[in-house]
Amino acid sequence: MSTVVCPVDEAHALHLDAVDPLPARRADFHVPPTTAGGYAEVAYLAGNSLGLQPRATRAALEQELADWARLGVEGHLEAGRPWKPYHELLRDPAARLVGALPAETVVMNSLTVDLHLMMTSFYRPTPERYAIVVEDSTFPSDSYAVQSQARLHGLDPAEAVVRLRPRPGEDCLRTEDVLGFLRREGHRVALVLFGGVNYLTGELMDVPAITAAGRAAGAVVGWDLAHAVGNVPLRLHEWGVDWAAWCHYKYVNGGPGAVAGCFVHERHIADRTLPKLQGWWSTDPATRFAMGPDVAPVDTADSWQLSNPPILAMAPVLVSLRMFDEVGMEALRDRSVRLTGYLADLLATACADVSARVITPADPRRRGCQLSVRITRTPAEEVCARLRHEHGVIADARPPDVVRFAPVPLYCTHHDAWRAATALAAVLSSGPLSSGSGETHDA
Ligand SMILES: *Cc1c(COP(=O)(O)O)cnc(C)c1O
Repeated sequence: MSTVVCPVDEAHALHLDAVDPLPARRADFHVPPTTAGGYAEVAYLAGNSLGLQPRATRAALEQELADWARLGVEGHLEAGRPWKPYHELLRDPAARLVGALPAETVVMNSLTVDLHLMMTSFYRPTPERYAIVVEDSTFPSDSYAVQSQARLHGLDPAEAVVRLRPRPGEDCLRTEDVLGFLRREGHRVALVLFGGVNYLTGELMDVPAITAAGRAAGAVVGWDLAHAVGNVPLRLHEWGVDWAAWCHYKYVNGGPGAVAGCFVHERHIADRTLPKLQGWWSTDPATRFAMGPDVAPVDTADSWQLSNPPILAMAPVLVSLRMFDEVGMEALRDRSVRLTGYLADLLATACADVSARVITPADPRRRGCQLSVRITRTPAEEVCARLRHEHGVIADARPPDVVRFAPVPLYCTHHDAWRAATALAAVLSSGPLSSGSGETHDA
């Protein structure tokens, strides 16, 4: 059994926090309590899965509940923030976060629902051009979504869905290989749909290069930004992305299942020939309550809406988006590069002489804040359970063998990163457990 000594001492982590030019806004969040490892709060590195609750969220939700209690239906017009146009409050901050024009942006539904609404308009296969290209390690919901879209068009998903794999022996896709594929096979591609940051490996894709190559090949290019939004700066309009969708409960901290966001490029928003599913929120708000039988189209991303906005799901997102406006995504990214670089150095040492290694690209330009560690000797779920119960470190497992650590720049500290790396080193060096027993065996 190997003994791993953490390379950098705790005092150094505390020093890095003390001199940080953009300190973590940890005090603005509820950090879950723990007693493990002698700490009062967990080191929370799972914000890529569910962001922490901002302290301001409760009051925002309570205001809506109070307005509902006080006003009933009149709240649609008379609430402190009237409910009828409530979604408009989220538009501008969401647009700023993804680098979009306000007219290109709408906050609505859940992510997978929005993927389907976007594909209803933008996946229009023909006999010659029918393929949907995804990364092989795409998130399962995206995989199921594209397969079901192929079936809706009477196609066999095994033929219509193309999954791009990394080269043998590699963990991440190379941009040049994606571009090469699009040059060779682009003539049969109807839709390119990648994750901006891959949920499993943490790889940040080259969104502008892949978008340009896909469009040059005649395909539509959509992006799932679930792991990119609030994690890396985005310029969707400038990059010419056709459409994108994302959730707000990971890095944006909008709460479990929070309402999602959608982007449709300006060149498409006035295209009334696009097929769409419609509802009463698709129509022009000026005449919506005339209650006529036909939709009056609006030439913004709002025309993809179906339903009246879920106020209780939107209030937390509004709070969270405002925090990003206050801090600024560029400043946050600078802090993120420093913090993740620090954790990467610690993990490289923690993993040096055991069967574990970081599979996320080492180049900061090719990753966001998440670092994924592949562990071959102990099941990932067991590693995470021990990190939590023995050390008060919250990471997350993607079975069978990946543990993800996200030092989220908005609320994580260098000390959190130090705790995570030290705890991982301790867990790895103590060897595998018998399943679920909680006791250590020498390996
Ligand atoms: C988190 C995530 C989802 C989740 O989809 P929901 O519809 O919000 O449940 C989908 N796709 C990707 C890539 C994700 O990371």
